[in-house]
Amino acid sequence: MSNSVCDAARQLHERLTAWRRTLHADPELSGHEERTAGFVARQLRELGYQPEERVGGTFGLVAALGPGTRRAVALRADMDALPIAEETGLAFASRSPGVMHACGHDAHMAMLLGTAQLLYQRRNELKRPVKLIFQAHEEQRPGGAQPLIAAGVLDNVARIFGLHIWSEMPLGTLGTRGGAFMSGVTDFRIAITGRGGHAAMPHQGVDPIVVGAELVTALQTVASRSVAMTDNVVLSVTQFHAGSANNVLPEAAELRGTLRTLDEAVRAVAERRLRELAEGIAAAHRAAVEIELFPGYPPLVNDPDTVARALAAARTVGFNDDQLQTLPVQGGGEDFAYYAQKVPAALLFLGARNPAKGCNYPHHHPRFDIDEDALPLGTALLTQLALGDDGEGFG
Ligand SMILES: [Zn+2]
Ligand SMILES: [Zn+2]
Repeated sequence: MSNSVCDAARQLHERLTAWRRTLHADPELSGHEERTAGFVARQLRELGYQPEERVGGTFGLVAALGPGTRRAVALRADMDALPIAEETGLAFASRSPGVMHACGHDAHMAMLLGTAQLLYQRRNELKRPVKLIFQAHEEQRPGGAQPLIAAGVLDNVARIFGLHIWSEMPLGTLGTRGGAFMSGVTDFRIAITGRGGHAAMPHQGVDPIVVGAELVTALQTVASRSVAMTDNVVLSVTQFHAGSANNVLPEAAELRGTLRTLDEAVRAVAERRLRELAEGIAAAHRAAVEIELFPGYPPLVNDPDTVARALAAARTVGFNDDQLQTLPVQGGGEDFAYYAQKVPAALLFLGARNPAKGCNYPHHHPRFDIDEDALPLGTALLTQLALGDDGEGFG
């Protein structure tokens, strides 16, 4: 790292680490981030901000800075922890039994606080406003992004960036992809009710196992016959429950599973076909069917131009081409997707893996940890994204 933002971020290393460790030791579950939000608000006030708290009825908070005449750049960090018993043995490990910052959201808050500090010192250099969004409740549906959006946090926002620390990538790297980046999820439950009876006289009943078996096969046609070859969907039946004895025709059967897509329109088609197949096959066999869909976060689609700007900012703060990675589509979901549905957005992954320091466990693992040397890198990048190029089209 070479420029003044990098130097300033590097000098913040100790403070960033202290913030992260304080937050790490006191994790809170999704929707319960009260102490976390209080800590962040206190730090922001000390730095000179007047954060708006409890935005949209959540523990999310927003702090703004800079001239109000143009549309803003928004930077988002999430705040919640997970129901995991920490096993890292770190001196600053969780003090709350069964709750752990095992996804790095503690680091996200620390980096955005560091960014708040660096931007405040440079507030006269800002050519447009900056919104710092600390969002609660990411790890669990329905997520904390939608209430913030409903409360207007994206009003007058030109672009939004999110930075997720990533233990699958080595320290010093940055990865993302333009276009679809993370999948949209819909889980489902299909309850089939037939008519039970004696297994030797199936003609007197309606066998829900036969109906369910036919449905499992038919559901394979959602991907193979209802969606174009250029689109993507995966539909998996992962549970099939029915029956209790060799000689009894059961009354009911239940299927559960999940479907994943990279596009909201494809998700809608897949959900509609699932309903039509279940209802049609059940009706053909005189069985009743009840279908429940549990929609998760939508597909996360990064705006290619916003990704390009992020990569340019990354180069400015010292990432070289070998350190910038184009990642494959990720299977997980992220409620950052809701922001990306509203304004041009880029979610970026910041490498924090370092086996030499024991930082080589996956996210959501009881021994998950990050190399804290990533904190100044992320802080420099976020700061540069806010200060960065003021090119055309930034309204
Ligand atoms: Zn997570
Ligand atoms: Zn996460």
